[in-house]
Amino acid sequence: MVLNDTELQTSLKKYFGFTTFKGLQEDVIKNVIEGNNTFVIMPTGGGKSLCYQLPALLKEGTAIVVSPLIALMKNQVDALRGISTNEDGVAHVLNSSLNKSEVKQVKQDIKEGVTKLLYVAPESLTKDENVAFLQSVKISFVAIDEAHCISEWGHDFRPEYRNLRPIIDRLGEDIPIIGLTATATPKVQEDIVKNLGIQDAKLFKASFNRPNLFYEVRPKTKNVDSDIIRFVKKNPGKSGIIYCLSRKKVEELAQMLQVNGVSAVPYHAGFDSKTRSKYQDMFLMEDVDVVVATIAFGMGIDKPDVRYVIHHDIPKSIESYYQETGRAGRDGGEGHCLAFYSYRDVEKLEKFMSGKPVAEQEIGNALLQEIVAYAETSISRRKFILHYFGEEFDEVNGEGADMDDNARNPKEKEEAGHSLVKLLKVIEGTKEKFRSKEIVKTLIGSTNALIASHKIDGKAFFGSGNEHPKEYWMALIRQALVAGFLRKEIEQYGILHITEEGKKFKENPSTFMMTKDHVYNEE
Ligand code: ADP
Repeated sequence: MVLNDTELQTSLKKYFGFTTFKGLQEDVIKNVIEGNNTFVIMPTGGGKSLCYQLPALLKEGTAIVVSPLIALMKNQVDALRGISTNEDGVAHVLNSSLNKSEVKQVKQDIKEGVTKLLYVAPESLTKDENVAFLQSVKISFVAIDEAHCISEWGHDFRPEYRNLRPIIDRLGEDIPIIGLTATATPKVQEDIVKNLGIQDAKLFKASFNRPNLFYEVRPKTKNVDSDIIRFVKKNPGKSGIIYCLSRKKVEELAQMLQVNGVSAVPYHAGFDSKTRSKYQDMFLMEDVDVVVATIAFGMGIDKPDVRYVIHHDIPKSIESYYQETGRAGRDGGEGHCLAFYSYRDVEKLEKFMSGKPVAEQEIGNALLQEIVAYAETSISRRKFILHYFGEEFDEVNGEGADMDDNARNPKEKEEAGHSLVKLLKVIEGTKEKFRSKEIVKTLIGSTNALIASHKIDGKAFFGSGNEHPKEYWMALIRQALVAGFLRKEIEQYGILHITEEGKKFKENPSTFMMTKDHVYNEE
């Protein structure tokens, strides 16, 4: 099936009332209509839903949309109600919330060709009776929303997402697949493609840069609560979200804000659903300015004018941080993202993870190290985040280049070309087998069991960098990673490798201006 541009525009207007496509939408939609496998990576708010909704309406048969949350499905289906002349609409859900007669009705509508989009949870798709039914009807394609749930390296791993491919194969031959996600580091991206078996999929990736967001990290001291209250009071009448790790802190801080005359509500999974909806609505309807919440708050929240997102505690990964801060400035206006950081919080999170299975712990720790590096970095925070998502950013001329604390108050720089060569030589000399910790120890001449077992402490380069403290070398490694001289193999939990650029630098050293890193005083 091929549609020309005018036909596409007309359908866009007819079904959704929009006059132009947003970003990459049009190209994605054409690719899906042509029946190709497609992979879409767009930040939240980028307009992913339309990428499968419009093709579903235009193509023959029913499109299956796999979505992780019943609440999200319901929102989408409700939103689609309005676009149909049929009273029941063109979209339905098939999940555990339906009773028998509702299920029967949905199946009837699919058979009659009324249903163009069928939203299902992965669990419902695995049920034999549903598979048998779907085998008997025409499926136009399968869209997998929140596709990062496939990967253990994503921020929201769901094991049932890993079984989708064999089920899709059972539904029929050559059913096109479209995977969509708002977060995908190169690693997660690779997992998705492999697991869904869509190596041939055309990738559509929008930039993750949010130029209107201002990123800032402040040291977390014992006065953090008053620091936050002061910030909120300086921004009267503005909408803000404050994330805390624990429910107890959520309640405490909400109360403190109220006592200080700020209209605030708490939100966490410990409240019953009625209370949660009430507080959420109060925030959405602007009855209150601030919501103090755990990460239970926010999925599917689309309040355009959130002016700040504060993190009382460090989040567990850069992806989570990007998602949570992404709720600020949706309308393109101001959005201040302020995180309070103390290494003690990191230790708390590590302890928290220590009860989990080993593989999960290792992944968790590797992700945590990345957010620590973000918090401690002195380079452009935007560059750091975008690099994490596999995107280059020009910190001088890029859009939003001056929108972070490090860009506004640049730290001093120093020449470190000579040190970089030393670092590269140590990584080479240790055969690219070590993580940062062992590399730094080798540089400063301090041993541990792993170093000793590889007999590294007898090598000529052992201690070759002892003119600098370990913090200096940690900072240099972080900056060499972002500059592209080193690469970290996340699958190997952080083992450092030298890139082609790094090899060239080692052969032909030049200058490398390193930003003096900032070591926090905690109390
Ligand atoms: P995502 O799933 O990527 O977070 P959504 O699909 O929810 O994004 O879309 C975000 C918002 O953009 C929605 O309010 C949607 O109605 C709007 N939108 C999507 N496509 C267009 C378009 N072509 N023109 C105008 N608004 C659009």
